[in-house]
Amino acid sequence: MMKNRSLLLAISCFCCAGSFSQPDRWQQRVKYTMNIDMNVKTNQFTGKQTLEYSNNSPDTLTRVFYHLYFNAFQPNSMMDTRSRILGQTFFGDRQDWDPRVKDRILKLKPDEIGYHKIRLLAMNGRPQQFVMHETILEVKLDKPIPPRSKVVFEMEFESQVPLQIRRSGRDNPNTKVRYSMSQWYPKMCEYDYEGWHPTPYVAREFYGVWGDFDVTINIDKSYMLGGTGYLQNADKIGFGYEKEGTKVTKPTGSTLSWRFIAPNVHDFMWAADTAFVHKTRIVRDSLTFHLLYKPGRTAAKEWDDILDNAEKALPFIEKTFGGYPYKQFSFIHGGDGGMEYPMATLLAAPSAWLHEWLHNWYYGMLGTNESEYAWMDEGFTEFATDRTKAFLQNSRDFPHEKNYGDYYSLMKSGREEPMTTHADHFNTNLAYGATAYSKGCVFLSQLGYIVSEENLKKILLEYYRLWRFKHPNVNDFVRVAEKVSDMQLDWYREYWINTTKTIDYSIDSLWEEAGKTKVRIKRTGLISMPIDFQLTFKDGSKELHYIPMYLMFGQKPAEDPSVSRLIYEPWKWTHSTYVIQTSKKLVDISVGEIDPSQRMADVERKNNKIELKF
Ligand SMILES: [Zn+2]
Repeated sequence: MMKNRSLLLAISCFCCAGSFSQPDRWQQRVKYTMNIDMNVKTNQFTGKQTLEYSNNSPDTLTRVFYHLYFNAFQPNSMMDTRSRILGQTFFGDRQDWDPRVKDRILKLKPDEIGYHKIRLLAMNGRPQQFVMHETILEVKLDKPIPPRSKVVFEMEFESQVPLQIRRSGRDNPNTKVRYSMSQWYPKMCEYDYEGWHPTPYVAREFYGVWGDFDVTINIDKSYMLGGTGYLQNADKIGFGYEKEGTKVTKPTGSTLSWRFIAPNVHDFMWAADTAFVHKTRIVRDSLTFHLLYKPGRTAAKEWDDILDNAEKALPFIEKTFGGYPYKQFSFIHGGDGGMEYPMATLLAAPSAWLHEWLHNWYYGMLGTNESEYAWMDEGFTEFATDRTKAFLQNSRDFPHEKNYGDYYSLMKSGREEPMTTHADHFNTNLAYGATAYSKGCVFLSQLGYIVSEENLKKILLEYYRLWRFKHPNVNDFVRVAEKVSDMQLDWYREYWINTTKTIDYSIDSLWEEAGKTKVRIKRTGLISMPIDFQLTFKDGSKELHYIPMYLMFGQKPAEDPSVSRLIYEPWKWTHSTYVIQTSKKLVDISVGEIDPSQRMADVERKNNKIELKF
């Protein structure tokens, strides 16, 4: 659409001039039109869905798969069983299951479970056969879908909204919000260069087909809605969505029809309640923030502050991580904890607003397969949250200390698993959490140590420019980093993502030879890294001794021009020690330190620093 194109042009102004061409990987495309009749007495709804499905792949598809997320909320489902098994693992007196799930699904009564019942499914007007596999619907097509062709699926379904257990549902006992409607409709699974991704709903995470949504929700007129997309009929809805000064004409009858369109997203969420307070903030002509919350335990000011802080943070975020291209973003009270959706978030309390909003970059626009690369959305979002928080608090402290600490604790627990582990297949929730969030955040921060902070900034914007509205994988990101930094970084991907090997360097010894001081640095850990070694002299001056790592075939530019830097021959990973030297005498030295920036995730920091007192 033209409108979108001009928006995209505007966004590219935020980015550095790109010298690399757009990736040419194909991706499927969807266009959903849905009409939903919600019964607020039974908490059931009927839906009609028309799905235009473009098979842009070079493959012939003989079947397709849909997600049926609500079916997870039934006793003995995979989600229920998995949660109860994780509950058998204890860390101290803490059980490893998600405290929101526990064994609650097992106790759901028939009117509290969730379900989707498919009444009709047709492709190009011909009814199709399908098999329900709990949260996955398999459709065996009567005629295959040829490469680079389009078909239209039509579906009629009946669903029941489960009592809120996890992410979506009704009547959350904590927030009291009536409807948190996420992962709520039959949704086409993604088919990509790796094939189908019919990932059952066990705990997390999500992956969807890029496309456009046109969703009409017919619901009792006492309910206010918020969610993904742009409300099309605000003049018939009101509730603060109408333009200032517009007269709202509500239709007669007991229901309102809310129609939203959402261009170029991979999911659609909505929430509804009869007691939402709705506030808006027009940030610029093309962007309005919405805030919907239920007055209650949390002070109204805490909710209202979100709008002030979001407005203040936006210019920093766009400059650092890329432009926000959509016309609205909604912070909505609902769900449990915090959860991200395109153009919206559900928040049980105001505190998670920033992390969830920033997911609109790492998840929303950079749509990684979260099952395979949960750390590329959670870890990158943590990184962005730490940085944005530091900006908002005007803090110059190292912003990622907590995430490094959580990674070190995980490593020491002996429970660590490689980051390549599928998000649902970690042996413990503990390992999933610290790996996806913290070790993922460290991945980026530590990349800044390897390639320089300046290059990291360029990498983040170039990644956004090349991969927004697509499905980048780990190698796509690493290739961007390699091209921007002009360094080989495959070794970093191998070590950090594919293994649980760790980094440990130490100062082995110092001695004087012919008036010069030599320092032997030792690698004890199994991961090889480039080394920044800083000497501080008694007169207050400093020297940075930089040893590139052999496999990088490159070196980072100086990060602090005020400190003189000596560059050494690369350190070969097969060699466990390396000797550097300074022209100063031993008595002139006051401190020697490996990586004073603390961005290198050295698991034993105590032996990184030596203070000399003569
Ligand atoms: Zn998150």
